[in-house]
Amino acid sequence: MTKTISEPVFTLTSGPVDAYPAVLRALSRTVWYDYDPAFQAFYEATALKAQKALKTPDVPVILQGEPVLGLEAAAASLIAADDVVLNLASGVYGKGFGYWAKRYCKELVEIEVPYNEAIDPASVEAAFAARPDIKVVAVCHHDTPSGTINPIDAIGAIVAKHGAYLLVDAVSSFGGMDVDPVASSSDIFVTGPNKCLGCPPGLTLMGVSTRAWEKMKANPLAPRASMLSILDWENAWRADQPFPFTPSVSEMYALDAALDLYLGEGPEAVWARHAATAAACRAGVKAMGLDIWAARDSIASPTTTAVKVPAGIDEPALRAAMRDRYGVTVSSGRGETLGRLIRIGQMGPTAQPMYAVIALAALGGALGALGHKVDVGAGVAAAMAAIDSGL
Ligand SMILES: *Cc1c(COP(=O)(O)O)cnc(C)c1O
Repeated sequence: MTKTISEPVFTLTSGPVDAYPAVLRALSRTVWYDYDPAFQAFYEATALKAQKALKTPDVPVILQGEPVLGLEAAAASLIAADDVVLNLASGVYGKGFGYWAKRYCKELVEIEVPYNEAIDPASVEAAFAARPDIKVVAVCHHDTPSGTINPIDAIGAIVAKHGAYLLVDAVSSFGGMDVDPVASSSDIFVTGPNKCLGCPPGLTLMGVSTRAWEKMKANPLAPRASMLSILDWENAWRADQPFPFTPSVSEMYALDAALDLYLGEGPEAVWARHAATAAACRAGVKAMGLDIWAARDSIASPTTTAVKVPAGIDEPALRAAMRDRYGVTVSSGRGETLGRLIRIGQMGPTAQPMYAVIALAALGGALGALGHKVDVGAGVAAAMAAIDSGL
């Protein structure tokens, strides 16, 4: 009987992620009254920092719930009852957005590709040729349960050319790689602090284009005076304007600290350590004779490495062995990918190349314990070689 570790030592998941120590310290601050002038000024300053990070012409909206709130609110607000929506599904989140879209639109058109693949921009162009009445296009940038990236800048250019609106789920990519609302021509760009920015779950960050504001305001069914409302928050960032309801004061402290870290380190440097960690991880996975879930390295996410579970290995048993023997927690798949892969997150504080070595060693050791021997040394050596090549 092996000794087991009762609490996780390394949380190397693809969300929620381990938070930065400075974020945790910020969470412990005194909870200010939301209408204290000091808090209102703090809220405005944080919203302006979020604007710097998102690089948007307008101040982003901060919704007071983790990003599923932002995604559902975006569907409810941007999609009008007579809209035709094109939903692009290359994974569980992309597919899932279609269920919300369907609730609000006239007709849902969908392009779905296998969940280890990415959307081909040419297929989006073809969809517009077949259906020039497409009004809103929705896409998930990094479909986290697959660890794959969609080419949203190219997709956004096509959507913009046809005068349609683009809604992007960039929850698990923003902050960990070069992606932003303007470069992707997004009208609504949903992200959150709880993935690559290294905060606990609790808020949505949302970039909204001028034309998206206009479309939402013209939509009689867009939620108002509602938890699902985006419109209610349009001016709430201003220190002299009221909040629709009490904001999550402590989560705002955490977000502010996370934005300071992100902007202070420099986005390019943050993205580089995410990419370096993922590259080391992929190199080690392959050197141990295992396979990356993504069909090609070029679409593999720099913020999550999804690894196929070898035939004959029980996925929950594999994660349990990593967790109980070595204290390493990784993520399972979800929906269609559940049981078929495990996911090693490289997000925020865990986007550090040496964490790839820890994850690989735990993965290799756990597989060995389950009777699937792999060369752990080769995996670690390949990861180290990848790390050293970048030094
Ligand atoms: C994490 C995540 C969200 C937020 O959803 P939860 O399932 O509540 O964590 C939304 N979209 C993507 C792509 C995510 O990775």
